[in-house]
Amino acid sequence: MKKSQILLIYTGGTIGMKEDSENKSLQPFNFNQITKEVPELKKINCVIDAVSFEKPLDSSEVNYEFWEEIGDNIFDNYYNYDGFVVLHGTDTMSYTACALSFMFRNLEKPIILTGSQLPIGMVRTDGKENLITAIEIASAKRNNESLVKEVAIYFEYQLFRGNRTTKVSSEHFDAFMSYNYPALAEIGVEIKYNLNNILVQKSKQLTYNKGFNPNVLVVFFYPGIVINQILKLMKDNSSNVIILYSFGSGNLPSSNELYSFIKDVTNSNKVFLNASQCAAGSVDQNKYEGGRLLRNVGVVGMKDMTIEAIIVKSMFLLNKFPNDKQKFLEFITKDLAGELSE
Ligand code: ASP
Repeated sequence: MKKSQILLIYTGGTIGMKEDSENKSLQPFNFNQITKEVPELKKINCVIDAVSFEKPLDSSEVNYEFWEEIGDNIFDNYYNYDGFVVLHGTDTMSYTACALSFMFRNLEKPIILTGSQLPIGMVRTDGKENLITAIEIASAKRNNESLVKEVAIYFEYQLFRGNRTTKVSSEHFDAFMSYNYPALAEIGVEIKYNLNNILVQKSKQLTYNKGFNPNVLVVFFYPGIVINQILKLMKDNSSNVIILYSFGSGNLPSSNELYSFIKDVTNSNKVFLNASQCAAGSVDQNKYEGGRLLRNVGVVGMKDMTIEAIIVKSMFLLNKFPNDKQKFLEFITKDLAGELSE
C-alpha cells in the first residue's frame, strides 16, 4: 500500500522545547531537526514533512489570527497530504481544535492536534508517545480512505473529538477529557477505533471558512455575586454575545434587575447565552425555576457544548452574521461539526 504523506506543523508549546545544557532553562529547538530528537519517526510507515511556525507560541498567547494561520497552512497543503498533525501548547489546544472544526467542513482527512506536559527533549517526556501515535492515527486508512475525517485531539492513549475536549490537568499526563462525547479511539497494544463515534461527513465537498469576531463576553457567576456589579459590567460592555456561565443545568440566582436588563437588551442586537460551569451534562432551562425565568427573557441554552466550543462558535458565527441575530441564533443551537448532541 502507498505510504501516507503527513504534514507535521509545529505551532509552539511545551512539546517542542529542550533543556538548555548550560542554564537548564527550556528553549524551543529547531523543529526541522525533529527526526534527530525523535529517531523513532523514521520507523513509522509514512512520509513526514515538518514545518515550524516562525515564532512558535506558548498557547496562552494564541488568538484567532493564529487559528487562521494554522488553518491556512492546512488548507494550502490539503491536497498534497493524507493527514495533518498539529503540535500545539496544551493550555488552549481545545479552543484551537474548536476553531479548526468550524473552519474546515466536510473533511476527508484527519487533523490531529497533540502536545505534551513534558518537553520532548526530557527523559520522561510524554511528547514522544503523543507525537508518534498522533502520526500513526493521521496516516491510518481503510480501503484507501482516512479512518478519521475530523479535527481530533490525541493525548495520553485517547483520541477525542477536538471540539468536545477540555484541558483538565496541568500536571497529569492524561490532561484532556471529553465528558459529553465518547473517545474516537483508545490506544493500548493496538489502536482501537470506535468507528461509530467518528464523524460521518455529509458531503465530500471541502469548505474552508475563515473569520472570527471576538466581541464575546463571559460572565462567571458564583454564590454571593453582587448582581449590580455584573449589571454595570454588562451595561458598559459593547460585546454582541454575552455568555452567562451558570450553575448546574443552567441556573442563576434570581434577580428582577437581571431579568429586566436582559429583556431590554435582547430587543437590541445583543444575544444572551446560557452555558453551564458543569463539565458534563447539558443546559436545560426547563428544569428549574432559575432556568425557566432566563428562558422567558430570551436567554438561549447551549445544550451540552463545552465552554470552549460556545466561545469559539460565537466568535465564528458573529463574524458570519454580524447583523443577523436570527441567523446567529439558528446556527448557535445547531450541530455544525459534532460539537453538540441534538
Ligand atoms: N503553557 C504551555 C502552552 O500551552 C503548556 C503546554 O504546552 O503544555 O503552550
